[in-house]
Amino acid sequence: MGIFRLLIVAAIGWLFYTLYRRIQQQPGKNPPPAKFEGEEVVSCRVCALHIPRNEALRESGHYYCCREHRDQVDTQDS
Ligand SMILES: [Zn+2]
Repeated sequence: MGIFRLLIVAAIGWLFYTLYRRIQQQPGKNPPPAKFEGEEVVSCRVCALHIPRNEALRESGHYYCCREHRDQVDTQDS
């Protein structure tokens, strides 16, 4: 049983070592989240979906992800 236990200890040690190496190798721990490069992102007024501003629909100062959501608010407000 002595050798078996030794093997387990060695395996656990190796596991920790590789984990440690892997953490050390990561240059920036938190790489910046994938952004729409150089584009401002706005969120839909209805569903809060984030969309690049140039793709969003703008209506009286608010942004919408799609026509359906824009129309939805329009009918609610009036
Ligand atoms: Zn939406």
